[in-house]
Amino acid sequence: MKIVELTYPDKYPESSKAKCTHTINQPATGIFPAKKTTRSCRRVARMTVNGSPYCIQHAGEQALCHHLMVRQYNYIDIAGIDKAQLLIALYNKAIPVVPSYRKDTYVKEPLTVKEAQMYLDSTDGISFIREIPIETNLLGTSAVVDFYDARNGHHAFRSVVNEVKNANL
Ligand SMILES: [Zn+2]
Repeated sequence: MKIVELTYPDKYPESSKAKCTHTINQPATGIFPAKKTTRSCRRVARMTVNGSPYCIQHAGEQALCHHLMVRQYNYIDIAGIDKAQLLIALYNKAIPVVPSYRKDTYVKEPLTVKEAQMYLDSTDGISFIREIPIETNLLGTSAVVDFYDARNGHHAFRSVVNEVKNANL
């Protein structure tokens, strides 16, 4: 679901058999590797957010995330930048989150254009791609930088954006 402007959740018609369309990523845990596929929640929809059906949990999550993002975060202008290229660059520059016992043997798997496009198409915000924290949303013409910078250093997001812009000059 791609929220640009949020209409606050409405109650869904009782009679409807619609299922929640929230996309669930299945990230890696300490034991299991990340699943490459995403799936939707599929619980019974109780509310709609901007016309799409959601269960109560995910309607609330959409509304809250949107509200918090609009309210307090720092954004960077990403208008006119190729989103797949930007996502790959963010991925390449990010510090992986791996448990200490894996640190010595960890090798960052490259992110392909096809995979990047899949993440961009299938989710609202991108939290993790495998072990790599992205924690932003690249759908609009601006993106929140705070979470990425918190993990990767002050102005890390900005330097990636500049790098991608310069590569295309
Ligand atoms: Zn749901």
